[in-house]
Amino acid sequence: MNRSNYNTDLNNTPVQFVKGVGEARARLLAKLGVESILDLMELFPRLYISRTVNPRFAQMQEGDMVAMTANISWIDEQYTARGKKVLNLGVNDGDVGIVCKWFKYHRGYLQSFIPGNKIWLSGMVSAYNGQLQLVHPDFEVFEDDEEDLDFWQERKLLPVYPLTTGLSQKVLRRIIYNAFQSYADKVSENLPQVVIDKHDFTLRRNALQIMHFGQDEARINQARRRFAYEEFFYAQILWARHLRYKSDKSLGNIFENKKKLTTELKKRLPYELTSAQKRVIREIFTDMASKKQMSRLLQGDVGSGKTIVTLFAMLLALENGFQAAIMAPTEILAEQHYQNFQKLLEGLAIKIVLIKGGNYKGKAADKAAMKDGSAQLIIGTHALIQKDVEFARLGFIAIDEQHRFGVEQRAELSRKNGIPDMLYLSATPIPRSLAITVYGDLQVSRIDELPPNRKKVLTYIRSSKSFDQVLGDVEKQLKQGRQAYFVCPLIEESDKIDLLDAERLFKYLSEKAFKKWKVELMHGRMTNQIKDETMRRFKDGETHVLVSTTVIEVGVDVPNASVMVIEHAERFGLAQLHQLRGRVGRGGDQAYCYLIEHYPRSNIARERLSIMRQTNDGFLIAEKDLELRGPGEIFGREQSGLPQFRFANLVLDQDILTLAREDAILLIDNDPQIIQDKNKIVKDNYLAIYKQKEELINY
Ligand code: ADP
Ligand code: MG
Repeated sequence: MNRSNYNTDLNNTPVQFVKGVGEARARLLAKLGVESILDLMELFPRLYISRTVNPRFAQMQEGDMVAMTANISWIDEQYTARGKKVLNLGVNDGDVGIVCKWFKYHRGYLQSFIPGNKIWLSGMVSAYNGQLQLVHPDFEVFEDDEEDLDFWQERKLLPVYPLTTGLSQKVLRRIIYNAFQSYADKVSENLPQVVIDKHDFTLRRNALQIMHFGQDEARINQARRRFAYEEFFYAQILWARHLRYKSDKSLGNIFENKKKLTTELKKRLPYELTSAQKRVIREIFTDMASKKQMSRLLQGDVGSGKTIVTLFAMLLALENGFQAAIMAPTEILAEQHYQNFQKLLEGLAIKIVLIKGGNYKGKAADKAAMKDGSAQLIIGTHALIQKDVEFARLGFIAIDEQHRFGVEQRAELSRKNGIPDMLYLSATPIPRSLAITVYGDLQVSRIDELPPNRKKVLTYIRSSKSFDQVLGDVEKQLKQGRQAYFVCPLIEESDKIDLLDAERLFKYLSEKAFKKWKVELMHGRMTNQIKDETMRRFKDGETHVLVSTTVIEVGVDVPNASVMVIEHAERFGLAQLHQLRGRVGRGGDQAYCYLIEHYPRSNIARERLSIMRQTNDGFLIAEKDLELRGPGEIFGREQSGLPQFRFANLVLDQDILTLAREDAILLIDNDPQIIQDKNKIVKDNYLAIYKQKEELINY
């Protein structure tokens, strides 16, 4: 796994040393990023099932999670009206009996279920025709008395791990248990004792075990905080050292507002800038006019018009004889900016170039123009950070959808090119204090207002049962010449299903419901090139309906798309729903969003959907998101557009972040080079994690 190599022993011991892990399982584990024993120990559950252990059947209710030992009463194989086989198993607790059902099963089940014998069952209680039942429960026939089986059977809180095809929860639980059986005493500490004492943290060795085997949610959360702290602490040491380094040499370019190109652009705009846009342009210009290097985050909800603000800043650099560049995460976004800028600046003597990856006609000439300075406005993908791409006099860089780039990539552009002013574009609304702590020395500008021509996207919640009705509504839009998105969720448990879902929907739409229209499918398994091409056909209007997993490109503007249908909307987080909905309603016309919900769904999921129906305000939605993600969802790790931490949640763990930041700053103030004895553990771990990164960003 690509990360720290602290705790060298366990981190260098391949996971195959754990009992129960052979070559085949090691390969599967590698897919989860688990290569060493430490990786396995740090593979934390994504949630915990709380279940009642050994309940009385008479007290059970629909929806209960249960784990129990029962007696087998009878076994019966039936055929349904459609000729499918069903296996029914009657079990009882001595007083009351219920039925377990399997619609898919191995023949072997028939032999192993012997009336009179005991069986261990675990699953969710459901009801059918008023009768309680367990459908496809986990089970163990009682003859197996392996210690670890007993161990899990008696647990009330059961960890649920991220999986990959071929690896079951049961197997994963067992081997993780085995790993701690043999190696727990080898886990080493990575925080200094003062810090542990100060915050009353659980020792790493114990905290790891609590994450897997804990039976008390409060204690699990307590343990998790320590892992969040670790991550923040070392990241903050990095920033603390970076700030110290930077304060010694922070001279950037001074740009003078000559009001030539920028005034010209203002005249040409087909719309009036919003007052929020005007304000942030002033903020950016003020920075650029000072001699300190600008490092500014430009936040604004999807569609708030960050691009045009960026273009003003770029033109300010141009006016002063510098080049300006914007880097976008995908070709299609880069092309969008390119076309956009060309149109707006048509007829002005500004040379604009677009640099993409790979080899294509004209690239060499464009690169040469960048190098000799004749290309002034440069738009590009990651290709901009390739070694052989050089600038003559780069004064300004914008990073679009900045969360799509790593710290190193962002720094790389700046490092190679003197001290350009930097603008980071982001649609994620995070509090200023958080932004600073996460990104280091960063100013924040916020566009908190949408252009006035925007109509609120009309949002409906529909049950999956009325899906065909929704399709009718969508078709009305298609008939008016509009386009529609259909998005299916990514299902963690098995990435295969994810594809299947989108594929199934695609089949249904293209072969049945929307036979008359051109429907295309897009998913994460496609190459970037194919995805780009698919997206482009949709953007150009060649495709009417785009069915996709969540890979649809953030930031791509398809003003003609007026419908967004989100399948299994109950499975998405608020931030993601908001991002997805932001794909439509970018033209002046009324747009629609259908949130298709499937049962069963939690109350929180329902609440999320109704918030989506009530508001289009990204900041409000972000706040609600925070409120809703109570303890029940603390382990959810939704893409938030913020840097990825393995353990920490940037939104929920802000208090920990603050602690870690204070501690880190204090430590670096007292011991800038981290050479004191008492800080040895910090030095070792810090270097292991961040040595390379530090070299990259301190330049
Ligand atoms: P984002 O902030 O999500 O990157 P964009 O910069 O792509 O948003 O802008 C979204 C759309 O809004 C673009 O089509 C752009 O031309 C348009 N736009 C930007 N500012 C305004 C404005 N002040 N009035 C009207 N339309 C605007
Ligand atoms: Mg954008």
